[in-house]
Amino acid sequence: MSTFKEMGLKSEILSAIEELGYVNPTKIQELALPKILESKQDLIAFAQTGTGKTAAFSLPVLNQIDTSKKGIKCIVLSPTRELGLQIAADIKSYSKNIPGFKVVAVYGGADISRQIKDIERGCDVVVGTPGRTLDLIKRNRLKLDSVEFLVLDEADEMLSMGFAEDLDAILANTPADKQTLLFSATMPPDMVKLSKKYMNNPAEITAGSKQEANTNVTHVYYKINSRDRYPALKRAVDVAPDIYGIIFCRTRAETKEVAERLAEDGYNTDALHGDLSQAQRDYVMNRFRNRQLQLLVATDVAARGLDVNELTHVINYKLPDEDAVYVHRSGRTGRAGNEGLSLTLLTGNEEKRLRYLEKKIGRKFEKVDIPNGQEICEKQLFNMIDTIKETEIANSHIDSFLPQIFEKFEDMSKEEVITKIVSTEFNRFLEYYRDAPDLNKTSDRRERERNRDRDSRRDDDRGNRRDRGDIGDRRERKEHKTAANMTRYFINQGKKDGFNPKILMGMINSHMEGKSPEIGQIEIMKMFSFFEMEKGYTEDLQRAAKNMEHEGRPVSIEESSPKPSGGGRDRGDRRDRDRGDRGGRERSSRSGEGREHRGGGGRPSGGSHGAKRRRRY
Ligand code: AMP
Repeated sequence: MSTFKEMGLKSEILSAIEELGYVNPTKIQELALPKILESKQDLIAFAQTGTGKTAAFSLPVLNQIDTSKKGIKCIVLSPTRELGLQIAADIKSYSKNIPGFKVVAVYGGADISRQIKDIERGCDVVVGTPGRTLDLIKRNRLKLDSVEFLVLDEADEMLSMGFAEDLDAILANTPADKQTLLFSATMPPDMVKLSKKYMNNPAEITAGSKQEANTNVTHVYYKINSRDRYPALKRAVDVAPDIYGIIFCRTRAETKEVAERLAEDGYNTDALHGDLSQAQRDYVMNRFRNRQLQLLVATDVAARGLDVNELTHVINYKLPDEDAVYVHRSGRTGRAGNEGLSLTLLTGNEEKRLRYLEKKIGRKFEKVDIPNGQEICEKQLFNMIDTIKETEIANSHIDSFLPQIFEKFEDMSKEEVITKIVSTEFNRFLEYYRDAPDLNKTSDRRERERNRDRDSRRDDDRGNRRDRGDIGDRRERKEHKTAANMTRYFINQGKKDGFNPKILMGMINSHMEGKSPEIGQIEIMKMFSFFEMEKGYTEDLQRAAKNMEHEGRPVSIEESSPKPSGGGRDRGDRRDRDRGDRGGRERSSRSGEGREHRGGGGRPSGGSHGAKRRRRY
């Protein structure tokens, strides 16, 4: 295998990718780099997201760009705004040591005049969604006559989203002698047409076979009775305490329903579907990316462009109709060298379809048993014990309480203390799974009926307990800690001003054009609010705030101290005090106010990295 240096990349690029920790090229990079660096031949590359495809086209293109020349040298088209922003961010980091280099992202749903200004200031690469790119061309604001490279990223997605005509029109505005690089996971018939029409004798490379599922992913299924779909999903999640995954549903209604049921049952989840506005979608995606959500329930369309590398699971609540959709879904896990699991909940009727899918994607699906209560409890208990063992206690505030705590436990043995602590945490969980029925599909009618009766009794009991307030109290108590990559801000708008997360996201989106910081936890209080934003944007945010107004009131935003992981008062409390009587009223409702968003709560205290389990019943 050649190294990046041996492939002939310039020192400016080598130093940037070294900083990113890229040591060896991935398969697609190994194949694509020499082709693009050494020839002008068009190229079709079959690669999934997660294979390193962005660097596979960006690095060799950047290597050949002459920043002293005027005009746009490369246009990258991507199906979604999220993917476009991700590509632009990647290109920015690969090119950070190239003097004078500029990349601009253009996409719909954002102020076009800002994007026009960015282009007019001069740039080398434009990354755009087809609709906005064409709009800019028609307005005569985007000139592609100097383009040397055209990249069509996730071309199959662009076509399946209905961008064929836009692509036709954009491509007609590019010079004939450019090099066209088409990246796609699959080769649907309309892409064959597109490549014949616009590409000149293209070379083909494949990292894995076309439409073949990612080899880092294990494909498994539970065989279920259709009425057990939801309880089986819960088992899948409960048996994996550190799960960080997407649950794919087929419709918006199903997505909403599954997310609502999971949130009600205490899971750290939210829904992503087409009924949400762009600002709401961004909000949910950011929370998922930041791992404030452990599970995302999504439709295929809404999850496009969501780029997360560390997913442990993809769960197919129902199997999709199209093979390519399954490939896309499962390809979201097992990325960047990680192992992933794609789990499908399958009824007897769907088994034939699965066998067909196996042949099409060239991968075997393994039937696994739906875990029983005993297995789940064991997993959860030992995970908790591991978490306790791994908890760091250096510089802990607990030191001063320890003498009293030890005194309290003085008359108990170590075994008794451990048993009591574990029972306090787990009794309800154990109770929920005590006598849990076998959910594996069985042909014995009487056993099925016994299971169903038992299930409904248990669910009634849970309903009663929830009514009594036993369930869900932990959700209220759950504390969120400001993540290390986030800055927390105070904003002078609250519930009383009709303020909510959607309005906040809208303000940020419209006043911070061209920037796309990640937004973390939003806490809407009565008179004011707090929110988290990715570090490094304080100046931009404060500049933007000067132009913000809400309900005729100027908006003021100040940096706040990070939210501590639990217990102690934070700046919010101090502000309450500073604000005299207003604050006094506010303080009492503080703990509940933060959970404006269903299922919210984010990372529990002590979570250092990664989505953390929350207790479920
Ligand atoms: P992509 O397929 O472009 O979405 O890339 C998936 C992930 O792999 C991204 O997080 C990249 O930063 C990362 N990546 C790309 N190339 C390499 C490499 N050669 N070594 C390590 N990580 C890489």
